[in-house]
Amino acid sequence: MRKLILVVLVAALGIWRFWPLPAAVIPPGEPLPAAQAPAGLRFALLKTGSATTLEAMVVAGGSLFRPTAIGHIAVLVEHPAGRFLFDSGLGTRIDAQFGSEMAIWAKPIFAYQNARPAVNQLRDAGIAPPPRIFLSHAHWDHASALSDFPQADIWVPAAEQDTALHGKPPAFLPSQFSSPDLRWHPYRFDGPAFAGYPASVDLFGDGSVVLLPLPGHTAGSTGLLLSLADGRRYFFVGDTVWNHRGIDQPAPKFSVSSLIVDADRDATWQAVLRLRALRDANPGLQIIPAHDSSVHDALGYFPQFVSAAAR
Ligand SMILES: [Zn+2]
Repeated sequence: MRKLILVVLVAALGIWRFWPLPAAVIPPGEPLPAAQAPAGLRFALLKTGSATTLEAMVVAGGSLFRPTAIGHIAVLVEHPAGRFLFDSGLGTRIDAQFGSEMAIWAKPIFAYQNARPAVNQLRDAGIAPPPRIFLSHAHWDHASALSDFPQADIWVPAAEQDTALHGKPPAFLPSQFSSPDLRWHPYRFDGPAFAGYPASVDLFGDGSVVLLPLPGHTAGSTGLLLSLADGRRYFFVGDTVWNHRGIDQPAPKFSVSSLIVDADRDATWQAVLRLRALRDANPGLQIIPAHDSSVHDALGYFPQFVSAAAR
């Protein structure tokens, strides 16, 4: 069964990779507002799992022969005024969640390896669990570990909480949200327009940690813009793109993959084009897809942190 599914997929890849891509009309980009980032702001990528697939599976026009490494990350952000995770990654219950709820046909597509839950990595390093978790979106590979952090408030746009609580496999796994003990904290983008985005949330009031709406992949998909004190800026964009080639070309996901995972394909594509515009207008801005290991590898992994260079 597993082999048959993969054969069908590769055949589909062969046909669809020659499908014409949508027109790439990149909108005008805007410069990012200045941030007053504290010297102590830093972040670390916790790699909670991995997989390998073909580039053609993750980005339209990708190679049928080039393997692509996929990572499942949780991002630990430490600001002098608060600590949080952005996404939770694969959690301690992932095998049971995936085994019992993932659609059979989707298991070969979304198979993962080397699960190393964030809660274990933090414990082994002697670091207390953070009191808040923000989600880029509530798909299974981002929300798996919510129940590993029972003391944490789970911050998601109200639209994303609603989507999660009504979501179905293969994108959502209902058991991840079934506990009445989850401490949901729905929020709204009630801050001002920001660099071409219609609204924002400035978490600490200094412009260093800003949440931006990226609806498309899911209704409440959210990006996290971090600005370090040395001027470096990082935009964590969830699954708006799976691979940096999505921004570089620009190109949407492989069409069959997109059909499976993107709630609104056109809105997702518009979000990709806006990301490209933002990067064009802000040289040096680093866009970090949630699953592109080539981008993650270059930043390094927990317990290593990315922090501002000393001045
Ligand atoms: Zn994902």
